[in-house]
Amino acid sequence: MKFIADFHLHSKYSRATSPQMDLENLDNWAKTKGIKILGTGDFTHPEWFKTLREKLEPAEPGLFKLKNSSSPTRFILTVEISCVYSKKGKVRKIHIIVFAPSFEIAEKINTHLGWIGNLRADGRPILGLDSKELAKIVLNISEDCLIVPAHLWTPYFGLLGSKSGFDSIEECFEEYSKYIYAGETGLSSDPAMNWRLSALDKITLISNSDSHSLPHIGREANVFDTEISYPAIIKAIKEKDPQKFLYTIEFFPQEGKYHYDGHRICGISLSPQESKKYNNICPNCGRSLTIGVLNRVEQLADKPEGFKPKNAIPFKSLVPLAEIIADALGVMVGAKQVDEEYKNLIEKFGNEFKVLLDTPRQDLEVVTLPEIAEGVIRVREGRVNVEPGYDGVYGKIRIFSKGEQKSLSGQGTLF
Ligand SMILES: [Zn+2]
Ligand SMILES: [Zn+2]
Ligand SMILES: [Zn+2]
Repeated sequence: MKFIADFHLHSKYSRATSPQMDLENLDNWAKTKGIKILGTGDFTHPEWFKTLREKLEPAEPGLFKLKNSSSPTRFILTVEISCVYSKKGKVRKIHIIVFAPSFEIAEKINTHLGWIGNLRADGRPILGLDSKELAKIVLNISEDCLIVPAHLWTPYFGLLGSKSGFDSIEECFEEYSKYIYAGETGLSSDPAMNWRLSALDKITLISNSDSHSLPHIGREANVFDTEISYPAIIKAIKEKDPQKFLYTIEFFPQEGKYHYDGHRICGISLSPQESKKYNNICPNCGRSLTIGVLNRVEQLADKPEGFKPKNAIPFKSLVPLAEIIADALGVMVGAKQVDEEYKNLIEKFGNEFKVLLDTPRQDLEVVTLPEIAEGVIRVREGRVNVEPGYDGVYGKIRIFSKGEQKSLSGQGTLF
């Protein structure tokens, strides 16, 4: 069966996360988005773990559903750990996602990690633990767990990041590298950028929302065609089988917060070529620039732009529906009309991914404005402009040029 999965997100127990991130809301939003499998996130947090145990019941092997509910949503036990440690004379900060096949195994992991640091302080705990030691602990508890470096390229917390990362998976995990079957591309990079490192050919690239609020879940995701169970999903990832792991859903990488280089407080955004011209120094204040993902990929790449390895899992780049509607209407994402039109489309077609991926233009045009239908089609075809994100500032998507929306619908005002 074909289904969509988003493994990495955060509960309300993580820092800077919406208080709405509880199981009932997640379950509902998964339906709205068209996500079948959702990571629980944060399973090391004692309060969240208790809630998960109380409110979930077993469904398929290794998957869980809300008790006494007929919801199609399934939860899979995941957590992100922030490993902060020093190695080879440098401070390393690496985020790692852990998948667990059962509550019993998750509990053993929690017990062990609880000896190392405070799991209660944050849903994404910060541990003074070498990434390799984390892999060792988790895999010694169960080989059925999966260890995945999160957002590989982000400057501060990515395994390959420019600030506190490594130059390779091997440098980080050493003899445990052979147990690293997958890496998360993160919002600021897409698979095509990762394909430029032949060192990454042996892993499977996965994509997740890393969402801290409900509307963002599924903004990146994975599309499978396999049995619905923990073992089948892990197998599809490990074997990188294109019959079973069909494709990933991606942001346009420019939209991510660390695509370009720059200095946020000075409002300086630079391409890798421009940064080079300035010797990686902010031309405004003279401090060093935050080197983004595009630049870092360029540093480590051994293949030209556009190179595609033979065994690669394909991907589709999408823009969240609310952003398409907002751009088509020429208003902000938070505007009331956006909300109304979003609800209208979900009601008519069932869920967001159906609208974004599958619904033909003619069907869209029956229920919505022609410029919204046009926006969906342009995104599918990759016809968008993006002002790249840098140093923690999100990029800005533009699907329409100024004034174009109105001429499309042939009317002066909308609604
Ligand atoms: Zn992270
Ligand atoms: Zn995260
Ligand atoms: Zn500056």
